[in-house]
This record gives sequence, structure tokens and C-alpha cells, in this order.
Amino acid sequence: MKNKGHIIVVSAPSGAGKTTICNEIIKTDKNTIYSISYTTRKPRDGEKNGVEYFFTSSDNFLKMIKNDKFIEWAKVYDNYYGTPKFFLQRIIKSGKNILLDVDVQGAMKIRKYFPKACMIFIKVPTIKALKERLIKRGQDKPDIIKKRIANAKTELKYINKYDYIVVNDNLRQSVEAVKSIIKSLQYKVE
Ligand code: ADP
Ligand code: 5GP
Repeated sequence: MKNKGHIIVVSAPSGAGKTTICNEIIKTDKNTIYSISYTTRKPRDGEKNGVEYFFTSSDNFLKMIKNDKFIEWAKVYDNYYGTPKFFLQRIIKSGKNILLDVDVQGAMKIRKYFPKACMIFIKVPTIKALKERLIKRGQDKPDIIKKRIANAKTELKYINKYDYIVVNDNLRQSVEAVKSIIKSLQYKVE
């Protein structure tokens, strides 16, 4: 029997460790492919176009919205982010899982279009720990860190809309938890 691909959505307040966890999953699970979003934000040190994101201009992003190229898109921290349609369609067709890293607004839209999507929320033990991680990551200026923390408090209100909550205290355990959730999907009764 051909494997059926699943849509897996991972959301978390910025700095909770979602990228770190997703990277670990992708490295070891060849059946799960990361959905590369488009964004108008500038690349961080080390980020490459077509790997973490497709980096694009606001003009092009707005053109893509007009041409119905996104499954969902949202404005997060003054930048646009969107999930391209072509990628998701291609992966699902191939029978592999697709892993979407989107904010809570995007996740709610995905839930609406794909009610069977597996929704995972990555939580950080405390807001203090979140602040420490954002500072340690060293990628955002203090005013941006402030914005991300304020936004985290709003995002936490959506937690009950998710199917699974993983508190990312110990990174290794969190990766194992997400892996187990993904593994269990192949046994799901559709
Ligand atoms: P997100 O993608 O959710 O914004 P990142 O994956 O970039 O977050 O992680 C933010 C920072 O926190 C990074 O420096 C990462 O190495 C660190 N980090 C991730 N998970 C943990 C953890 N369980 N404990 C401590 N630090 C962590
Ligand atoms: P960052 O700039 O830290 O990479 O991401 C900021 C936020 O944008 C994160 O919450 C991340 O999940 C979200 N994000 C990334 N790609 C998308 C997307 O395609 N759609 C939506 N709605 N959010 C996204």
C-alpha cells in the first residue's frame, strides 16, 4: 500500500526552539519534508535563499498573493510570511509528510483547509527562558526581542487549538516527543 503523506504544523513563540527541533526532525526522518515559506524579512546570518526561506521583496510577495500562490499567508512582526501552494501539493502527492513551521494565524488557516492536519505547539517553560533564548540566539535587536516576547503572550492563547503541546525544556526529549507524534500518524485511522 502506498504511504499517505500527512500535513504537520508546528507553531511556537519565536525563540522557543521550533527551528532547532524541526531541523533535527528533517535530518533524521527522510519521510518528512520541510515546507519552505516565502518571506519579506531579511536573511539572518547563515540563512540561505531556498533553504530556510525564499527571501523576496514586498512587491513580489503582494503579487504572489494576488496570483493566489499561497495556501496561507500572514504578517508577522512587520514582515510577510506565506506557505506556497506548489510545494505542499508536490510533497503530499509523493506520499511524504510535509512539516509546516507557521505562526498561530497561519496554523488556524491550515486547520480550516485541512482539518486532519496534525497540529503541534512548542512551548517554552517560562517567558524568562524565552527571553534568554532570544538573547542567546543573538539575531534580533532588543526592540525586536521585546516585540517577540509580547507576541508570545498572545500566541499562547491559541494553545488549546492544537492537538499536541511539547514543552521544550530538554531539547533531546522534545525532539523525541515530536518524532513520536509524527511516527504515530502512520497508524492513524483515516
Ligand atoms: P524558534 O525557531 O522557535 O524561533 P530557535 O530554534 O531559533 O527558535 O531557538 C532559539 C534559541 O534557543 C537558539 O539559540 C537555540 O539553540 C536555543 N534552544 C533551542 N531549544 C533549546 C532548549 N531546549 N534549551 C535551551 N536552548 C534551546
Ligand atoms: P522567523 O522570522 O523567526 O523565522 O519567523 C517568525 C514567525 O513567522 C514564526 O512564528 C514562524 O513560525 C512564522 N512563519 C514562518 N513561515 C511562515 C508562513 O509561511 N506562514 C505563516 N503564517 N507564518 C510563518
